[in-house]
Amino acid sequence: MMLRRKTASESAMSTLAVYPGTFDPITRGHVDVVSRAAAIFDHVVLAVAASERKDPAFSLEERVALANDVLAPIDNVSVVEFSGLLVDFVRSQGAHVVIRGLRAIGDFEYEVQLANLNRRMAPDVETVFIAASQEYAFLSSSMVREISSHGGDVSDFVDPPVADALARVYGPPRR
Ligand code: ADP
Repeated sequence: MMLRRKTASESAMSTLAVYPGTFDPITRGHVDVVSRAAAIFDHVVLAVAASERKDPAFSLEERVALANDVLAPIDNVSVVEFSGLLVDFVRSQGAHVVIRGLRAIGDFEYEVQLANLNRRMAPDVETVFIAASQEYAFLSSSMVREISSHGGDVSDFVDPPVADALARVYGPPRR
């Protein structure tokens, strides 16, 4: 029997990617990364970590609900909560790809360390980095919380349901 290579379409399997984070709360930077990932992979699971040690400003349920609200227009994305080791969660989903966003040089060291630790624990799981768009390269959830807590307007940085949620926690913007 002649052996032949598979054609591209024969090789095409449905690829699931997991994008984990605390999403406290989800920002337009996160949405930018998910949108880019959703254009590459068949399905993206945005995995909201319980992250108890970070003492999040929003409960896990609120963070999941906000992410669901904001990501509703992207039909190949779903939002799931998780706790425990990321690699265990990734395997439980039957996935082999983890997405992480990279902003500035500052993210690099931590993210590469994390990717290597995860690879050590789960060699079958690959981390794929997506560069933030320039527009959001300075943006983080902690900055957004900080601005909101001082009465600043965050409407350029987060979607309306998130701005409303921040206003409920910190009060409406004063300027
Ligand atoms: P974690 O607690 O895991 O750091 P975050 O919710 O802060 O969770 O971030 C999740 C992922 O999204 C990380 O890979 C982080 O680098 C990335 N990220 C956060 N903000 C942005 C942004 N503005 N642009 C691109 N990636 C981002």
